[in-house]
Amino acid sequence: MSDDTARPHDPKEPRARGGHCVVLGAGIAGLFAARVLSGTFDRVTVVDRDTLPETDENRRGVPQGRHAHAILPAGTRGLQEMFPGLLEGLEAAGVPVVREPTEMHFAPGGHPLCQEGRYADPTPTYQPTRPQLERQVRARVRKLPGVEIIDRCEAAGLVCTPDGTRVTGVRVVHRDARGERELTADLVVDATGRGGRTTRWLADLGYEPPREDKIPVDIKYVSRTLRLAPGALGRRKVVIVGAEPGRPTGATFLQHQQDRWMLTLIGYGGHHPPTDPAGFLEFAKPVLPSDVFEALCAAEPLDDPVAHRYPASVRRRYERLRRFPEGLLVFGDAICSFNPVYGQGMSVAALQAAALRECLAQGPDRLSYRFFRAAARRIEVAWQMAVGSDLALPQVEGDRPLPVRLTNAWFERLLTAAERDPALTQEFVKVSSLLSPPLILLHPVTVGRVVLGNLRRTPRAR
Ligand SMILES: Cc1cc2nc3c(=O)[nH]c(=O)nc-3n(C[C@H](O)[C@H](O)[C@H](O)COP(=O)(O)OP(=O)(O)OC[C@H]3O[C@@H](n4cnc5c(N)ncnc54)[C@H](O)[C@@H]3O)c2cc1C
Repeated sequence: MSDDTARPHDPKEPRARGGHCVVLGAGIAGLFAARVLSGTFDRVTVVDRDTLPETDENRRGVPQGRHAHAILPAGTRGLQEMFPGLLEGLEAAGVPVVREPTEMHFAPGGHPLCQEGRYADPTPTYQPTRPQLERQVRARVRKLPGVEIIDRCEAAGLVCTPDGTRVTGVRVVHRDARGERELTADLVVDATGRGGRTTRWLADLGYEPPREDKIPVDIKYVSRTLRLAPGALGRRKVVIVGAEPGRPTGATFLQHQQDRWMLTLIGYGGHHPPTDPAGFLEFAKPVLPSDVFEALCAAEPLDDPVAHRYPASVRRRYERLRRFPEGLLVFGDAICSFNPVYGQGMSVAALQAAALRECLAQGPDRLSYRFFRAAARRIEVAWQMAVGSDLALPQVEGDRPLPVRLTNAWFERLLTAAERDPALTQEFVKVSSLLSPPLILLHPVTVGRVVLGNLRRTPRAR
């Protein structure tokens, strides 16, 4: 296993042109950004207001770490490319890896997908806990030349030229004796997560903030860690049951270590899972396949159920702004925070990192303009898929124009046929993993299989 993250220069990357960049936020997105920026800037300083732990423990700034957190194959590819050796290290440390369809029970929209055959794409799914993944990525970013990570340090505001057209640094407040100071920077990257400080900072500087597209999903997550008997779920290492129109609830049951599993129950507005242990179990019963529920009843709980509310998916349209100060970028959830049930956030952060690398390779001119457009193209597919699936549920408020209704009707038929068709399952998984564009699902061969598959079976009564 190799760890060559700290290598001096990757020939695929732009030559360093010097200067200092400050990244606000050391979440997954901030770390991906720092990795890419270290190929261009002499110095990259990452600040985070949390105390960043030395062990795989949860922290206040990333409360989602207590819940099921899976990285899709598109994110895995990003990790492979930017942090060689990291995934092999996780596997060597006992992190389960899903390589075969038999290892994953996946039932989106009420359709348990076919578990036969082999995955055509060789990118497997790794299942570390979120704190474990973040710590491994952070350790590698720390070793990059010129990179410093400062924790217990909160970004409090931007520093600009007197005319407000260029950001020249950031005001930070250390949660120790050092107090407040300014960090001068040639580029500031806001990766502070869903709360994204830039919208308010822009308004303070007299700029229009970006338009926000919102889908009020009103989701609640409740999760707990359990010890399962070896082989209790057969070959399965992950069970994902999505919501469906008649049942706006779902579950993700993930193996994190040999006998340690995390069960996350999910409910849309009015159908939130309870946090008391008896209610938690009761809620899981109609959601999980019966044998999985039996294994759950026999499992040993290792902690108490913990909750997280997620009110709305939010997409900030930075790419549509006419005026934006130079020397500033926004990154990760601060641009777009997706309904977490689709597991897209970390993978889209990896895709944004790839977009940033391409933009940096073209030089510094109009960087924010080019980056926001390139990031928006990556975000668009994931956003449309998530929003479309949410709008298939009557509980979620929002307009359902004809294209959304047609797409959802098509997905319903595709998933019905995919229950027995390994090839269709493959195609769907590639699209939902963000490895292929949704248009592949309209290939004539795919359309033919969907039509035949639906003719061969009676549609399930809903
Ligand atoms: C319940 C839940 C489950 C999820 N499940 C999945 C999943 O299965 N798969 C997936 O890919 N994604 C999932 N996501 C999304 C995923 O967590 C994020 O998309 C991903 O972590 C990228 O986020 P980020 O780094 O932009 O922001 P965050 O992870 O929120 O990190 C922001 C960082 O900024 C720091 N910060 C905030 N304000 C300041 C400040 N003023 N100064 C300094 N530092 C600051 C915080 O401490 C934090 O470290 C889930 C999200 C939620 C809420």
